[in-house]
Amino acid sequence: MKISDNLEKQAALDLAEDSREEEWKFESFVGELFKGNFRWDLVHPYRVQAESDKTIGDKVCSELELVLKEHLDPDAVDKNEEVPKSALDALKKHGYFGMKIPKEYGGMGLSVVNYTRAMALVGSYCGSTAVWLSAHQSIGVPQPLKMFGTKSQKEKYFPQLAKGAVSAFALTEPDVGSDPAKMTTTATPVDDGENYLINGDKLYITNGPAADLLIVMAMTPSIMVAGKERKQITAFIVPTDDPGFEVIHKCSFMGIRGIENGWLRFTNVKVSKTDIIGDIGKGLKVALATLNTGRLTIPAISTASGKACMVMVKHWANERVQWGNKIGEHQAVQIKLAKMAADTFAMESISELTAVWADNENADIRLEAAMAKYFGSEVSCAIADETLQIRGGRGFETADSLRARGESPFPVERMVRDLRINRIIEGTSEIMQLFIAREAMDVHIKFIMGILSPKKGASLLGAFWKAIKFYSFWYPKQWIRLPKLYNVSALSRENRCHLTYISKTSKKLARSLFHTMGKYQTKLEKEQMILAKFVDIGTDLFAMSASLAHAEYLLSQDNADKNIQNVVNLFCTQARHRIKSNFKLVSKKDRKLIKSVSEWLVDGDISARTQGIVQPEIVNQKNG
Ligand SMILES: Cc1cc2nc3c(=O)[nH]c(=O)nc-3n(C[C@H](O)[C@H](O)[C@H](O)COP(=O)(O)OP(=O)(O)OC[C@H]3O[C@@H](n4cnc5c(N)ncnc54)[C@H](O)[C@@H]3O)c2cc1C
Repeated sequence: MKISDNLEKQAALDLAEDSREEEWKFESFVGELFKGNFRWDLVHPYRVQAESDKTIGDKVCSELELVLKEHLDPDAVDKNEEVPKSALDALKKHGYFGMKIPKEYGGMGLSVVNYTRAMALVGSYCGSTAVWLSAHQSIGVPQPLKMFGTKSQKEKYFPQLAKGAVSAFALTEPDVGSDPAKMTTTATPVDDGENYLINGDKLYITNGPAADLLIVMAMTPSIMVAGKERKQITAFIVPTDDPGFEVIHKCSFMGIRGIENGWLRFTNVKVSKTDIIGDIGKGLKVALATLNTGRLTIPAISTASGKACMVMVKHWANERVQWGNKIGEHQAVQIKLAKMAADTFAMESISELTAVWADNENADIRLEAAMAKYFGSEVSCAIADETLQIRGGRGFETADSLRARGESPFPVERMVRDLRINRIIEGTSEIMQLFIAREAMDVHIKFIMGILSPKKGASLLGAFWKAIKFYSFWYPKQWIRLPKLYNVSALSRENRCHLTYISKTSKKLARSLFHTMGKYQTKLEKEQMILAKFVDIGTDLFAMSASLAHAEYLLSQDNADKNIQNVVNLFCTQARHRIKSNFKLVSKKDRKLIKSVSEWLVDGDISARTQGIVQPEIVNQKNG
């Protein structure tokens, strides 16, 4: 690796470190799991939406369903690559572009739970429309304005947004995707710092070509900290009516084809310093904090898609007869059906629980939201793909074609295409794994960094002593079974057994993470294959816990559907199999093989292995 590559990598890591929230003001269920501390009391009794809030959500959702059905044909949206203006106008008129905006500014003032319920409903009907609303409200101007805006910013922008001004969030650039340290869009102070001139390009900006207001991330002048240059990314609210704003290209995609997304250019676009959101240099912090709740839309939509798939496969498994049996009676199909039901229940449990926590100001959900997004986006794609398989040829056929032949117009192929983007936007799955791993290791990193690079004025001896004091209690605790601090007597024997497994396994996870950190020390961040396995284990343990608490709640209700116990048992059993195999990790031999084969593919001569095809057209772009 060249020195310049190392410097670039270090700059990316420094910026990521600088942008994360350092403190944990509140307990995190998942954070505790990674420390070997299974806090059943944080998930059980299962937190449900307050009745008064539910009444509001029920009304919003039933009205929204009517608006959607009256104004939108999701198959036409897909075919025409456009959400009709009349549908957008109807959604604006009924206030659905202001769901998150506080009532005093003309918005609906919905709770996070009700907002995600509404988005799930839209997502189950039309993926493109869900993205229009979500890019505007989950990551666009309303959410960061609510969290970080000044009173005068709120008074200026909320009323126009509540009336239907469309917004977007602009971070990505042609050379900047997962690595914002390479950002080239600049905001240069002029007029004695009263204003800034924004220059640069932003790519893939959803709603960008149609937006009235943008959140733009741009580099403001660097500052020097302890003799080192520190890059400053700052978030600005930018109106798009400036003549220096241009839409260079509108992008088209395999799915969510009705969205407006494009490549935007800013040439000396003047913005006032009063339009900075948060502080100068804190743009990525604003983005990350926004995403903590913003990310909850994807798991809600993923859950809704899982539910829609369940309805479609239920119908087809009963109706379709092949080889003398309904296809739902063939074991090869049953495996898929059962997994679909169990995984959808787990997605719903994680997604609901995290949204309820998000409404509680005394919760830190950064890990739970990231896991919900990671789990939901991966699992829903797999479910949609299996639904396509169960539908056979009809799964591959468009809804319009099915309708024209007089069959149920299940839009499975569109769902497969629409859902796929969720593994890429708002943090790719690979970046989610890195994010979760970093936060999971935080407790250990703090001790290690205290020793390896003590803060100015801090004593090394003090840092050692602190670490010894912590680990001499913490480490033995990871080997012994302590009496349970929570009451499990009311639980069924099966669920008690699942809880014991989670408790034991979270200690094993904590120990393994600690041992691996000891082995690789500061080089661990490079061991992505191992970190990904730890993250997957933690995610399964979270999903098991949330599902069990959810099942316990449902089973305690009058007229409970007792099948839920089987559903949760299946999820827990299958999660245990995955956890077992993940603990085996990728063996060292495997990891070496993966590295050498991938290096051969990237750096070696593969021409002999890629003959006999029409070669894809390659445009050589400048590299970084
Ligand atoms: C339909 C659509 C809508 C979008 N909407 C918006 C929007 O509204 N606003 C906005 O700002 N952006 C938006 N984006 C951009 C999106 O957020 C990025 O595409 C995403 O962050 C990934 O960046 P990239 O495409 O440059 O991929 P890259 O960052 O180049 O990544 C390519 C691959 O490498 C992996 N990778 C990269 N770095 C690492 C690493 N350190 N370790 C391990 N793996 C790594 C990635 O996971 C991925 O698999 C949108 C994109 C699309 C396609």
